Amino acid sequence: MLTELLKRITGKAEKGQKRSSKWRKTRKEFIKEFPVCEICGSTEKLEIHHKIPFHIAPDLELEKSNLITLCDKNNRGCHFIFGHLCSWQSFNPSIELDSKIWYYKIINRYKK
Ligand SMILES: [Zn+2]
Ligand SMILES: [Zn+2]
Repeated sequence: MLTELLKRITGKAEKGQKRSSKWRKTRKEFIKEFPVCEICGSTEKLEIHHKIPFHIAPDLELEKSNLITLCDKNNRGCHFIFGHLCSWQSFNPSIELDSKIWYYKIINRYKK
């Protein structure tokens, strides 16, 4: 997966691809199926994040395994921090692993 990813980043990703007309429907169905932020468990301000961004892998735009639900409160939520490592110019290649670690930590966090 990572080698494939690096190949795409360094190589021949086509620029300026158009978003699919099916994206809205895919997005809606995905949110219905996964209605919780996979980092913090929030059910508010949910965004569907592409694990490998659209501009690198437009062919994975509608691919469920490339999608993950993250929250986006004030444009600075889990989507921004974990999905994009605090820069909209970037993305997190290990979001899948990180979501498992952080979701576990957050649901088991110490409560007073
Ligand atoms: Zn969240
Ligand atoms: Zn994103």
